[in-house]
Amino acid sequence: MQQPHRLNAENVLENLETSPQQGLSSAEASRRLSLYGPNELIEKGKKKAWRILLAQVKEVMILILLVAVVISLALQEYIDAIVIFVIVVLNTILGFWQEFKAENAMAALKKMTVPHVRVRRDGAEQQISAKDLVPGDILLIEAGNIVPADARLIAAVNLKVQEAALTGESESVEKDTDAMPDGERALADRKNMIYRGTVVTYGRGEAVATGTGMQTELGKIATMLQDVEDEQTPLQQRLAKLGRSLAIAAGVLILIVAGMLYLQGAGLKEIFMTAISMAVAAIPEGLPAVVTIALALGAQQMLKKNALIRQLPAVETLGGVTVICSDKTGTLTQNKMTVSEVVLPKRRYSLDEAAAKEGGDADLDLLLLAGMLCNDAVIDENAQNGILGDPTEGALVLAAQQAGWVQRDLQAMLPRVREWPFDSERKRMSTVHTLPPASQRTTLPPVLAADGDQGQADHLVLIKGATDGLIEVCNRILTNGVVHPFNEAEKEEISAENTAMAQKGVRVLGLAYRLMDAERLDQTAEYEQDLVFLGMVCMLDPVRPEAIESVRLCKQAGIRPVMITGDHPLTAVAIAKDLGLTTTDRVLTGQDLDKMTVDGLSARIKEVSVFARVSPKHKMIIIDALQAQHEIVSMTGDGVNDAPALKSADIGVAMGITGTDVSKESSDMVLLDDNFATIVAAVKEGRRIYDNIRKFVRYILTGNTGEIVVMLAGPLMGMPLPLLPIQILWINLVTDGVPAVALGFEEAERDVMKRPPYNPQESIFARGLGWQILVMGLIIGLLSVGTGYWFWNGGTGSNAWQTMVFTMLTFCQMAYALCVRKQTQSLFTQSWFSNPVLLLAIGVTLGLHLILVYVPFFNTVFRTTPLQPSELGICALGPLVIILISESKKLFLRRKLR
Ligand code: ADP
Ligand code: MG
Repeated sequence: MQQPHRLNAENVLENLETSPQQGLSSAEASRRLSLYGPNELIEKGKKKAWRILLAQVKEVMILILLVAVVISLALQEYIDAIVIFVIVVLNTILGFWQEFKAENAMAALKKMTVPHVRVRRDGAEQQISAKDLVPGDILLIEAGNIVPADARLIAAVNLKVQEAALTGESESVEKDTDAMPDGERALADRKNMIYRGTVVTYGRGEAVATGTGMQTELGKIATMLQDVEDEQTPLQQRLAKLGRSLAIAAGVLILIVAGMLYLQGAGLKEIFMTAISMAVAAIPEGLPAVVTIALALGAQQMLKKNALIRQLPAVETLGGVTVICSDKTGTLTQNKMTVSEVVLPKRRYSLDEAAAKEGGDADLDLLLLAGMLCNDAVIDENAQNGILGDPTEGALVLAAQQAGWVQRDLQAMLPRVREWPFDSERKRMSTVHTLPPASQRTTLPPVLAADGDQGQADHLVLIKGATDGLIEVCNRILTNGVVHPFNEAEKEEISAENTAMAQKGVRVLGLAYRLMDAERLDQTAEYEQDLVFLGMVCMLDPVRPEAIESVRLCKQAGIRPVMITGDHPLTAVAIAKDLGLTTTDRVLTGQDLDKMTVDGLSARIKEVSVFARVSPKHKMIIIDALQAQHEIVSMTGDGVNDAPALKSADIGVAMGITGTDVSKESSDMVLLDDNFATIVAAVKEGRRIYDNIRKFVRYILTGNTGEIVVMLAGPLMGMPLPLLPIQILWINLVTDGVPAVALGFEEAERDVMKRPPYNPQESIFARGLGWQILVMGLIIGLLSVGTGYWFWNGGTGSNAWQTMVFTMLTFCQMAYALCVRKQTQSLFTQSWFSNPVLLLAIGVTLGLHLILVYVPFFNTVFRTTPLQPSELGICALGPLVIILISESKKLFLRRKLR
């Protein structure tokens, strides 16, 4: 549609054949959906299947092998050429399939984060997927939404939108509904339009969609968006680097071996084949693919535990988290608010007493009325707990209802005309209502009925919010139906009550009001000045029982849980103690933080685990201070203003239920159940994945070391090539590869959550892994080449000795796969069947190996000789040696740990 910003809202609606009250009919909406297509940007940079295939083919390793094929052909070694080629193809297919599966798993996870939008269709409000939006839809938007389409505003209340995505301007701009007929307007000046991809930072509004999908301003520039390169995780980067170093090392070794062979008078062909085999043996070509699949599988496991991973590297980082910062309300607690007490100046009531007091205490009536009207929650029999909206507000509505106020009647009698919404900076909210003519105010509390000292006011301002701040802006107080100045002594008394209540761990909300003249209505700042204090309401919000257990688990795992809340510091400390999160009274408030430098905070943050009365900007300071201490920080958030903190935390965690689109979009992980316990479960899963990655790195590299030892030692001992190139290829791709993938399924170690976190910067070979790989590789290699030497020297005449090397190596690796499953736990006390995939992998690999050894066709292809039972028996001794050594090492480690 042409320039909807220049038309009146009515004309836009007319042109789009829609109406604000009815919206589109669902039939019309689906007709338009097929006409205009889904509301999606067509991404350019998406990884296509063939691209993954190409990336696989490009790998150096494969290139080397293809060269080998060509040279084998040139040397007329047709069988070798074919076998190498088949192995290359198989390897490419396997790698491709793994990547593709990992890729699909991530795409499925991404799909789950497509936001839902509120629209009006068939005359009713509905939630639909943003993809199904069509031009003419009536959109309902509020702070925290990412605008899903280009749209013309038809209603706006305090609406502010941040349009940086389109204009680069990071200040939010105010929006309204007025037409702007004169002349051309730059995008940034079209105040009555909202655009796809921009962020609603404040207020709410209604708009009619004018363009969707690629027909949006964002769609027009989408072609300019950069291709999103898939980011490698830090571990993958380190592995890539390792691969490069190993390639160089292999190059040097190859030169040495080639030199030795040359001196022994070997032919060019033999030297060349050996070089290729060694290159294959040294480079862990399967590793990157195995890591990717392990991470993707981990992300899927986490989803089963309600943690939706948005960035693959998060799986890895989660395992290293050292501090979990969590919002209190709703994450550590249930966010099931119930009013426990109402505190008026000089008297207090339990909720039941307050209800029974109906008509008996006019001050109480006014306080409850204020709570019900200064409120966006609505009673809804169908909803859980009977309330739609913020639980804090719902509790106030229910309390007033119990005392006899009827929400609908009150809203009709005192219609809301203005509002200043709640935000976590001010920690309060105010609404303005029209008062009925004096003659009709008889059902209202008497202070409203009489004009009193406030002249002919026709409007009522109601405020609720954090008591400490509210007292500051009150200059009068209502007691026993009389408004009188609020003196210092009274302020202190109220303050003391507030503190006493907070100490019990309840959320305390103060309420106040003022009367206002119609002409002052647009002076928003004045709503929250010169107020009359009414009293306080206390609410109970029970802690989540599972959070107590999770906090304990964190501490045991060397992870520090930190509570962050906008509530009163004493409320926070009381709840933190209930959770076992702290035993001290130490707490820092937002005000404290404002006075501190990052360095100052860094010095103290070790001993403080509770932060109260903070606003979102303080989360950034907390993250900075923690990161300055080299902590790996996970931070939760749900609001628009939490987005920067979620981005700068190592793991930004958004709330799936209560979170805004913006916070989800900025996060690494979304909690589908908003539950603290889910973060801890995800950390545990992250640790398991990281452990497993180390397990198959250990397994693969030990195998490679063994093969290199064989290839080096053979010529040194004067033997011919102990392993043929195709045999080495086979060992690398099947014997190493298949059990390695299966090790990714290994269940968590018994002590995963009983040990401190590992430093995520640590080398892959940290904690002795490098040495163990070298020693075990040496043992496996010498065992194999030694057996080969014995049989070769014994002169059986056949090349059974070569098959002995091949078989010994394979058998030892299978045994080692079993040993690698647990770091210190004995093979004989662990549960054998907890990883059936590995048992299957080992079974299949052994089965295939026996086929290579005993089926005549493969004897020709792989140059193997069927082994005598006694020879096979000797090879079976290898695993016993490996297990014996591994068990001794584990025994030693267990002793040391104790
Ligand atoms: P939390 O981080 O624990 O969710 P909030 O920032 O939501 O804390 O709330 C901080 C304070 O703001 C509360 O202690 C309460 O006094 C006040 N408050 C919370 N919700 C509302 C609301 N809907 N309207 C007015 N005041 C509120
Ligand atoms: Mg809150």
